[in-house]
Formats: sequence, structure tokens, C-alpha cells
Amino acid sequence: MIRRMESRWVFGDCRLGCQSTGVLVTWLGPVQWDGQHSPFMTCGPCLSRLRAQAEQYFIKRQPAAA
Ligand SMILES: [Zn+2]
Repeated sequence: MIRRMESRWVFGDCRLGCQSTGVLVTWLGPVQWDGQHSPFMTCGPCLSRLRAQAEQYFIKRQPAAA
């Protein structure tokens, strides 16, 4: 069974490289550093890029049978 990630979108700042502020973002998980943690939010375009990178990683690890 493939389970899709359900997202809740809020206005905030993207923490995934593009540095956009005041845009729709969704929570990916906590960032933990030196005993502290903060929310890791990402915008739609960054989430799409991350998803594509993850899919490429999965394809390389599990090549289709010939
Ligand atoms: Zn972004």
C-alpha cells in the first residue's frame, strides 16, 4: 500500500533553501540541534524538488527488473 503524505499548509517561511517568506508552507518534521528543536517548514516548489530527489534515490536503489 502506498501512503501519500498529507499536508496542512499555513503561511510562513520556507526553511528548505529558497528562503521565501510569507508563503504557503507545510511541516516536514523537527530540526534537532544541540538538544533543541524547531519546526522544519517547506514551500510547495521546494517540496516538489525534494520529492523528485527522493524518487530518483528510490529508483537508483531499486532498479526495475530487466
Ligand atoms: Zn522553498
